[in-house]
Order: sequence, then C-alpha cells, then structure tokens
Amino acid sequence: MLVIGNLKMYMTYEEVKTLIDNFDEDVILCPSAIFVPYFLNHKYKVGVQDISMYDLGSHTGEISAKQAKDLGVSYTIVGHSERRKYNNETNEEINKKIIKGLENNLKIILCVGENKDDDKEKVIERQLLEALKDVSNFKDLIIAYEPVWCIGTGITPTNEQIETTISFIQTTIEKNFGKSVKVLYGGSVDKDNINTLKKINNLSGFLIGKVSTDYRQLKEIVASLRD
Ligand code: PEP
Repeated sequence: MLVIGNLKMYMTYEEVKTLIDNFDEDVILCPSAIFVPYFLNHKYKVGVQDISMYDLGSHTGEISAKQAKDLGVSYTIVGHSERRKYNNETNEEINKKIIKGLENNLKIILCVGENKDDDKEKVIERQLLEALKDVSNFKDLIIAYEPVWCIGTGITPTNEQIETTISFIQTTIEKNFGKSVKVLYGGSVDKDNINTLKKINNLSGFLIGKVSTDYRQLKEIVASLRD
C-alpha cells in the first residue's frame, strides 16, 4: 500500500529537521517546496504539493515541473481541494498541470472529491474527465479520492462508501480512457482509523495530511499497513 504525506504549509524549519532526523520509511513525502532539498536522498520519495501549468519563464512564485524533476522530485500532487478552493483552480488548469508534469516525467497524484452537498458522482466524473483530457500515460497517474468534508474534520466515510466511490472512479476511467488506475483514500486518516480503512478491497493506499507531520503516528500507520 502506498502512503503519501501531504505536509501542506504546516511545518517550520525546526519541525522539518525533527521529522527528517526521526523518520526514514518507504513512503512519499510532499513538503512545502522551500524544504524539498532537505527531504531528498532518504528512503522516502519526494513530491511537491503543486506545479505550474507553465514551462520555465516569467511566472513569479511558481515552480515548474522541469525544476522539480531536475532537483530529484518524483511526484506532484495536483488538484488538491484546498487549491481548488483558495486558488480557484479549475479542472482546465489542473489538466494543463497534469500534462506538464507527465511531459517532465513526474508521477501525478490527482485529487478528486465532493463537497458535502454535491452530487458526488456528477462532480467526480467531471473532475476526472476534464482533468484527464488528452492524457494517455495512465501508468504514472494515481487518483486520490478525498471527500472535501473529510479533510481536517476528523470524519471519514464508511468503508462501504469509500469502496463504492473508488469503484465509480475506476469504472469512469475504464469507460472513458480504457485504462486502469490506482486509487488512494485521503481525509482524516490517523493511527486509530487506519486498521479499519486498510480493509477496503479496491484501495491502493492513503494520502495523509496533518498526521503526516507527526513522525510517531506516521510510523504507526506504516507499521499497521505492513501487518
Ligand atoms: C489532505 O488535505 O490531503 C488530507 C488528507 O488532509 P487530512 O489528512 O489532514 O484530513
């Protein structure tokens, strides 16, 4: 099972040093871009939390896929719900980011998920079809199903609900692109619920936010997935 840590914008330099000094497991960690160099050359692989939809050029504050790849980054998250919400990211922009990432040999973690009152299948189908337009390389693509109402709330759907949604995601991709994909679950995963969540049949792993900043919990989660 894959474990991906989205460290978001949580950590100071001192906290980053503590995490790096105490944690070296076979996972994928996505720190703030400014800290990426400290995370390289460990057992874990490194991802960025977002990439630009542009090539190298005059785009102040952005990070290009080429720069990330040059430095040794292997993955990028795209379409996280916080970026959709606070940066008004559209599916069309997310599509451009995915294409740039794949062109530069980054593996893509595409986040999809519904708000509480959304028509779940309608929203997710649209996110998938628009974000994956003209994409042909599905072997370097992972989908993270992250219901927005579960991120940072301490709430998780039931295993049955997650399994049904993963199945919907896989069927939508098979039907429209003729490909199969790995699907992860993300949203309030912790050391206590991991033993229940890991029983979901069609699941390939977890995208973990806040808890991934806590190396002790992260170790417990990795150990539980080994059992
Ligand atoms: C996330 O934001 O990707 C996430 C999974 O957050 P959390 O685990 O903190 O709910």
